[in-house]
Amino acid sequence: MNYYSTRNKTEKRRFAQAALGGLAPDGGLYVPETIPALPASVVASLAAMTFAETAFETVRPFVRGDVPDAVLGDIVQSAYPFDAPLVPVGRFSVLELFHGPTAAFKDFGARFMARVFSYLRRGEDRPLTILVATSGDTGGAVADGFFGVEGVSVTVLYPKGRVTPLQEKQIAGLHGNISAVAVEGSFDDCQRLVKEAFRHDGLRKTFDLTSANSINIARLIPQAVYYVAGAGKGARGAISITCAVPSGNFGNLTAGLYAREMGAPIAGFIAATNVNKTVPDYLETGVYETRPSQATISNAMDVGAPSNFERLAAHWSLDELRALMRGVWVTDAETRETIQRVHAETGYTLDPHGAVGWKAAEKSVTEKAATEPPPPIAILETAHPAKFAETVEPIVGKVPLPPSLEKALTRDVESITIPPDIETLVDYLKRRH
Ligand SMILES: *Cc1c(COP(=O)(O)O)cnc(C)c1O
Repeated sequence: MNYYSTRNKTEKRRFAQAALGGLAPDGGLYVPETIPALPASVVASLAAMTFAETAFETVRPFVRGDVPDAVLGDIVQSAYPFDAPLVPVGRFSVLELFHGPTAAFKDFGARFMARVFSYLRRGEDRPLTILVATSGDTGGAVADGFFGVEGVSVTVLYPKGRVTPLQEKQIAGLHGNISAVAVEGSFDDCQRLVKEAFRHDGLRKTFDLTSANSINIARLIPQAVYYVAGAGKGARGAISITCAVPSGNFGNLTAGLYAREMGAPIAGFIAATNVNKTVPDYLETGVYETRPSQATISNAMDVGAPSNFERLAAHWSLDELRALMRGVWVTDAETRETIQRVHAETGYTLDPHGAVGWKAAEKSVTEKAATEPPPPIAILETAHPAKFAETVEPIVGKVPLPPSLEKALTRDVESITIPPDIETLVDYLKRRH
């Protein structure tokens, strides 16, 4: 399979180059040349397949030529000892994406990416060094995904004192091939340091550097898997499901569109955002206008300039996007009210991101003329509610931690603190590696 840059169709790369490169040299994002179709026999047996089997069938055409079947089989087996159950809750179903080690859906992408990087780098003498800046969640998923993976070392930069204690343990509690750097500054400082590191001649001579942020195609492709699996289980006969997707950078939703294009029984999408509603506004007005992000209680979606929009626009026109999805945005007050009401009515605890998805689905159903019976809707629950205890517990009471988070809490944090200065970071990296 070939990939091309969203900014230049002639800028073609194999999967291996696109994955290890991250961004295209022209600053664009890599997209697949074609979106492959799943064999009809696979679509027909989805309901009976294990998650790892579905992962194998979904990912295989995207990595053909670069990852042999036997290797891919091992990668998905080791990446996914957990799955994504589709649970009926009240009038909807919830696709639970929080059963991985860091209790958020980013585990699906990070764990695959780590293993595929290790394979693609086999036989290299120098380890691959991954630099990643995080405001909290991504760093934990990347650190956990790459922990113990041979031939790869990871340095996570996070803003000192601005992540939760649990997040810090996820980032800085693993040790081994993962190192953590607390930067005296903001997330933006961390991100700037990573960018400066990539441009630093001295570093680039010594290290094979790459990043693991969400625009990497190797994190996106495996996210199509839970849509294929969930749709296979949730579709009722000839009636496909609709997916409500809590969105920030729109990587998750882009992966859903790939899954639908591949033939998963998905009718369409609800693009659910908080007040950072750049994409819902675009779908409504046809004008794409990025803006500074606003802080909300669903903070993993506080994005005013969604990085994956460039991919959406490369594949689909405005009219096509309007036919595929409905954009709905939700306020913090509505999010809190939804967590409270769904808990009271069903006993189910949503996290703030999933609650945005649920509320958007409700709005979408009432806005549409009442169709009987209503189409099946799956709400993507992108994180475990215990990760956002400070918001959820005042509304519904104590939320027990899942075992993976319980375990993370027992870890010892070990990180170094640096000022937001590139030469200090460079010195640290040279000493460590
Ligand atoms: C990252 C994240 C999102 C947003 O996903 P995108 O792919 O950026 O749209 C939603 N919910 C949670 C919990 C996340 O961590």
